[in-house]
Amino acid sequence: MKYVTLNNGVQMPQLGYGVYQVDPAEAERCVSDALGVGYRMIDTAQAYYNEEGVGAAVKKSGIPRSEVFLVSKVWISHYGYEHAKTSIDESLRRLRTEYIDLMLLHQPFCDYYGAYRALEDAYRKGKLRAIGVSNFQPNHFIDLATNVEIVPAVNQVETHVFCQQIKAKEYMDGFGTRTMSWGPLAEGRNGLFTNPVLEEIGKAHGRSVAQVALRYLTQRDVIIIPKSTHRKRMEENFSIYDFELTAEEMERIRSLDLAKSAFFDHNDPETVKMFMGWRNGFAGR
Ligand code: NAD
Repeated sequence: MKYVTLNNGVQMPQLGYGVYQVDPAEAERCVSDALGVGYRMIDTAQAYYNEEGVGAAVKKSGIPRSEVFLVSKVWISHYGYEHAKTSIDESLRRLRTEYIDLMLLHQPFCDYYGAYRALEDAYRKGKLRAIGVSNFQPNHFIDLATNVEIVPAVNQVETHVFCQQIKAKEYMDGFGTRTMSWGPLAEGRNGLFTNPVLEEIGKAHGRSVAQVALRYLTQRDVIIIPKSTHRKRMEENFSIYDFELTAEEMERIRSLDLAKSAFFDHNDPETVKMFMGWRNGFAGR
């Protein structure tokens, strides 16, 4: 496992397991499988409604808490200082832990400055080991990172071979903020799993398309959290550090970048309206 060092010195696994759209009833089994495969970083969120399952799996695994890196996110319905503060304590309870390794603001909408101050306070109290944001496009990211006391350690944004965040990553690098990919396999969109370039490169290394797509991101210094509910695929997605893409292969994959979202554009007013519909709770799981 490769670790990266965050801007506050905390070590974080570069490869983890994400549980978006994992049914709360299945989360414990999935996370137990992932820990069994060797994953030591789990990415959940208040809006996934499965923090309890994650916490139960970690507890039951018997793996020392210090060896598992837990990531969660505050949903916009809990933004504003007071609400966010309370919601952090609720996440701690659901995850059955004294501290969360990395807590993010899930979206750049509603009172995110107030919510970020709650993250900063919880960080100072030792309830959070690192704090950051998610889905902050460069415009919102630069604004926030410039005006807060604790610069985000991480910004988790949609990042995969078709949306590589080349320019956005440069802005984040400028603040010492790590780029963390969500949707590292684009959830299979744009025909990712049958892409001829990825297939050809995979063949040359005796690897699957998924492994090539994930390896590409890690060679670009991006943190990744692929999701699968199947143990075989968890193993496949975990086995990406024993081969290396050449500079030429990296260049070929770089040329697949469409530089736009395969899901939705956070700067589109229609997207903002969609999120406003979820400001009292996320219904998109
Ligand atoms: P992903 O790109 O990881 O794709 C997951 C899907 O790809 C699976 O459901 C499965 O259908 C397929 N798959 C996975 N491994 C495969 C393999 N080896 N071979 C073939 N098919 C395979 O998508 P994701 O779940 O959206 O993203 C990963 C994680 O990122 C999430 O679980 C979550 O933790 C996080 N996330 C965060 C946000 C955010 O707003 N911050 C949004 C989406 C996801």
